[in-house]
Amino acid sequence: MIAVVGSLNLDLVTSVPHHPVPGETVLGGDIAQHPGGKGANQAVAAARLGGQVSFIGRVGDDDAAEVMLGAAREQGVDVGHIQRTPGVPTGRALIAVSPQGENTIIVSPGANSRLTAADCTAAADTLRQARVTVLQQEVPHEANHEAARLSGGTVLYNPAPAVDGFELPSRVDLLVPNRTELAALAGLSSTPGTLEEVGEAARRLRGAGAVVVTLGGDGVLLCEGTAQLHIPAFPVTPVDTTAAGDSFCGALAVALAEGRQLEEAARWAAAAGAVSTTRPGAQPSLAHRTEVESLLNP
Ligand code: ADP
Repeated sequence: MIAVVGSLNLDLVTSVPHHPVPGETVLGGDIAQHPGGKGANQAVAAARLGGQVSFIGRVGDDDAAEVMLGAAREQGVDVGHIQRTPGVPTGRALIAVSPQGENTIIVSPGANSRLTAADCTAAADTLRQARVTVLQQEVPHEANHEAARLSGGTVLYNPAPAVDGFELPSRVDLLVPNRTELAALAGLSSTPGTLEEVGEAARRLRGAGAVVVTLGGDGVLLCEGTAQLHIPAFPVTPVDTTAAGDSFCGALAVALAEGRQLEEAARWAAAAGAVSTTRPGAQPSLAHRTEVESLLNP
């Protein structure tokens, strides 16, 4: 079983002719709403690939809560540890997309910001039984810290989105940043470019067992101690890279929970990440198991 501790956001997306400057109002297109949030995306990614997933999180007591719970349930995610938070709205992301495809995003964390260490303590049995516990940075640090402490399996920490003043949870077995997050963690002023620079930055990090750096179209770099291994990206024609990292993390958790070694698991997850770039959107783009297998064994 995989435990995912994290955020659930209802994404509200509209097109805009240009992004408004302060004081300006622009007319957008019709609003589209999609289930999102890194926690929910990673849970759905893992469930869609056949993982048995239990989610620990918070929603509000509004209509968006029903949308989020329904979407998770529909994908087979166990929502028994998702608490409702009276008087607080469910997390939402307000996303404006320009004709050039550039996004501006405002995240209102709402109920996600109310997740507590006690919520994780209440799910202690689930966390102890989990073969992999998956954490990100869209819920309070105290909750991640407690979940990591209670986890009976591998703790996978995705330090996303990159935030200032981050702190790793009490235990991290696998740290999975992208280039930007790695730069933030390593305190670099610019993102590392070459594989050598990425490896050097990963070796500067302390407190994690192994570091798995996702490099978009450049694939993945595995770093363990002084050893590093590059896994090239699978050749696909990307149309939208949204949620590639979430797809990767969910898939990595499934592969590890199935007992695969890190290198094989990372290759499997890279295939899932690649599949997700071939479709638009976040949760709709997440890979199915047959697609991952056929990319690995053409
Ligand atoms: P994030 O969305 O967190 O920035 P990445 O963009 O690094 O994450 O994507 C995660 C993984 O998905 C990559 O390590 C890679 O394996 C796969 N991936 C992402 N973009 C592409 C691409 N253009 N072609 C093939 N694989 C990709």
